[in-house]
Amino acid sequence: MTTAAPDPDDKAIEAALRPKNLDDFVGQKRVREQLSLVLEASRLRGRSADHVLLSGPPGLGKTTLSMIIAAEMNAPLRISSGPAIQHAGDLAAILSSLTEGEVLFLDEIHRMSRPAEEMLYMAMEDFRVDIVVGKGAGATAIPLDLPPFTLVGATTRAGLLPGPLRDRFGFTGHLEFYSTAELELVLRRSAMLMDMKVNSAGFAEVAGRSRGTPRIANRLLRRVRDWALVHGIDQIDARSAGAALDMYEVDERGLDRLDRAVLHALVTKFGGGPVGLSTLAIAVGEEPETVETVAEPYLVREGLLGRTPRGRIATRAAWEHLGLKMPDAAAQ
Ligand code: ADP
Repeated sequence: MTTAAPDPDDKAIEAALRPKNLDDFVGQKRVREQLSLVLEASRLRGRSADHVLLSGPPGLGKTTLSMIIAAEMNAPLRISSGPAIQHAGDLAAILSSLTEGEVLFLDEIHRMSRPAEEMLYMAMEDFRVDIVVGKGAGATAIPLDLPPFTLVGATTRAGLLPGPLRDRFGFTGHLEFYSTAELELVLRRSAMLMDMKVNSAGFAEVAGRSRGTPRIANRLLRRVRDWALVHGIDQIDARSAGAALDMYEVDERGLDRLDRAVLHALVTKFGGGPVGLSTLAIAVGEEPETVETVAEPYLVREGLLGRTPRGRIATRAAWEHLGLKMPDAAAQ
C-alpha cells in the first residue's frame, strides 16, 4: 500500500477540511491580499470579478481558492477541467448555461483543445460565443450573448498557457510552496476538525514531511490518525508521527516513493544525468507530466534535482540523500 491508496472516507474529510473563506486560507499572503482587493473592488462596482488565473504545483490550494472566490462573491460555482473539454461544443454547452455572475473554475486549463481555447478568448473578452451549426459550406455561426461571469483558470505552470489566453486574465496569482510554519497552521486546523490530539512537536514532524503542500500535509495527518488509532495512541507526538510516516515510506525530508524512484533512476541508470524528461519518466514507469508536475518541483526546490538544457541532473545532495557517493565524473 502507498500513501496514494484511495480511501472513500478521505474524499469526504478532504472536502470538510477545505477553508471556506479567505481568512481561513493559510499563507500565500500576497495572493490573498491581491485577490481580496480584486474581489472587494468588483463588489463595490457591483460587477462580476475579473478573470483570475492561479498557477502552482498540485495541492497548493487552487481549487480551494476558486471555491472561496465564489463564496466571497456570493455566486454559484461551476467546476470543469481542460481535459474534460475536448471540443468547442463541450465548452459552448458549459458557457451557454452559466448564470449571471457565476464563477467557472477550469482546472488544468492548459490541457484544453485548441478550438475550445479560441472560443474561450471571445467568451472571456466580449461575453459572447459563436455557435457553429451545420458542417462544411453550409455551416453558419450563430452569435450568442453570455451573462457576465468570472473565469478562474488553474494551471500547474503558467508558462504552459499560450500568451493570448494568459493575457485575458485580469489577475494572475502564483501559489508558492508553504513554509513548515504555515503547514503547521494548516495541520492544527485540520487536527481540530478531525478531533485529533497532537502536540507541537508532532505537528512539526508531519509538517516537515509534507513537501510544502497542504494537500499532502492533510493526507499524512490522516495516515498518522489511522496509525494512532490502531496502536491505541491518544496523544500524538513527534515519535509516533515519525514512526507512522516511516511506515508509509515518507522520509524525513518529505520524499515519497515517486520522488525517490526519480532520484534513484537518475543516479543508478543514468549516472546522475543529464537525461531527458521522457526517458526518465519511462524509467520510473510514469507519465512525463506526472514526473514534471508532481515530483520535480519539490526535488528542484530541495536542491536535489537540476533542470539543464541537456536534461535533468542529480545534484550532490541527491546522491547523499540516497546514501551514495557521487562519482567524480558526475560532479564535472
Ligand atoms: P489544488 O487545486 O491546487 O490542487 P486544492 O485547492 O484542491 O489544491 O487543495 C488541496 C487541499 O489542501 C484542500 O482540500 C485543502 O483542505 C488544503 N489546502 C490547500 N490550501 C490551503 C490553505 N492555504 N490553507 C488550508 N488548507 C489548504
